[in-house]
Formats: sequence, structure tokens, C-alpha cells
Amino acid sequence: MIHFLQVDKTYPDDIKALTKISCKIERGEFVFITGPSGAGKTTLLKLIIRAERQDRGEILVNKRNISRLKNSQVPLLRREIGFVFQDFKLLHNKSVYDNIALVLRAVGHNKKEIPKRVRHVLKTVGLEEWILQQTPLKLSGGEQQRVAIARALVNTPAIVLADEPTGNLDPELTVEIMNLLEKVNALGTTVVVATHNTGLVAQYQKRIIPLYRGALAA
Ligand code: ADP
Repeated sequence: MIHFLQVDKTYPDDIKALTKISCKIERGEFVFITGPSGAGKTTLLKLIIRAERQDRGEILVNKRNISRLKNSQVPLLRREIGFVFQDFKLLHNKSVYDNIALVLRAVGHNKKEIPKRVRHVLKTVGLEEWILQQTPLKLSGGEQQRVAIARALVNTPAIVLADEPTGNLDPELTVEIMNLLEKVNALGTTVVVATHNTGLVAQYQKRIIPLYRGALAA
């Protein structure tokens, strides 16, 4: 599903973010990308959605060769991938409904279908309908992250990438959000969680891709 082959990524000023990364994530897997701050976790996720481009090596995502993808094909790639951020990145001046529906409008979904899909995905993430009319800042951190996960899922992506998804949450909400990501995975989505939180990783029996200073750690 995701295949890195000898991938290097260097930022300007010769900052080597990733060096010779080769790894495979299979369809339906739940994988942790781990490593301390600065190890290259976010860069690895950004390469998958082509928010950054590698300098060397090949990346295959859902059978597409990312380096050969035309710019015009990038939106199609991103439709297959849901992204969840540490700070949720919800639009504060829009309702929860609009935050989720915007994704569907952007890809030109049938207008009648949109409310049905929003309600369906809301159930999947365990939120009730009253929340749809609220604006994000009125919600708890856990609720906001559930909304963000709903937004990531509403296009039924093959892959969900989550970058420190529980970084802003207390331990109880962390467990809830991790359980939700496990449920998403059980429904068939490939889930990749990047985190520096070794305690969190230790609680789950998942495969780990460990990074250290931009390289695969032993
Ligand atoms: P992590 O997610 O593990 O904290 P990152 O992928 O964010 O690691 O960063 C890896 C390295 O690349 C760090 O040294 C970071 O400072 C550097 N870096 C990340 N993004 C940029 C950027 N846009 N420009 C320059 N350096 C960057």
C-alpha cells in the first residue's frame, strides 16, 4: 500500500530529514512511526501526500509512483488519504457540519448525498448529531479530534495518516482516540500514526517503524 525505497529528503541549508528510508506498509495494517522530535516522522508523512518531494528514491502509494505523479494528479492521490493533525486544524468559523461537508463539496459530491455521509461518519467516530451545529472551539479537545477524524474519513480513504493525533489530549482522551483509530483500522483502513510518545506505543501491539535522526533505527 505504501512503499518507500531508498528515500532521501534534504531541506534547504543541507538539513537531512530522511536518509535511505526503505519500508513497506501493507494494506489494512496499523503502524506506528516513532522517534524523538526531529527524527523525520512528519517529513515521512508529508512525502506520502506529496506535501514535500523526496530528493532520491521511490515512493509508491496505492500503486501510484509518487515521484512520477503530475501536479494535476496530486488532488486525486490526496482523496485516497485522510490526514489527522495534533492541533486538529478545524475551521473555527464554520460549524462542525461544514467542516466535514466541505471535503465532500470539494470533490463534487451529489448534494443529497452529503448530509447522509456526514451523519454516517459522525456515527463512526461516536459523536451525536447535536454537535453538527456547534463550532469547533465550543467542543472539548477529544470531541474536536473526533470531528477531525470524521473529516479525514468522510471520503472513505484507503489510508489514514495521523501526526501526533493525541499530542494535545490528556491520557483518558488519548485512549479514546487511539481506540477510535483502531476501530477505523478494523473497518479496513490502513492507519499510520506518527508519535514520539513511547509510553503510548508500548500500550498497543502494533508494528513500529522507528526513526532516529532521519534513518531507520535498529
Ligand atoms: P519529526 O516529525 O520527527 O519531529 P520532522 O520531519 O518535522 O521530524 O523534521 C525532521 C528534520 O527536518 C528536523 O531537523 C527539522 O528541523 C527539519 N525540517 C522539517 N521541516 C523543515 C522545513 N520545512 N525546512 C527546513 N527544515 C525542516
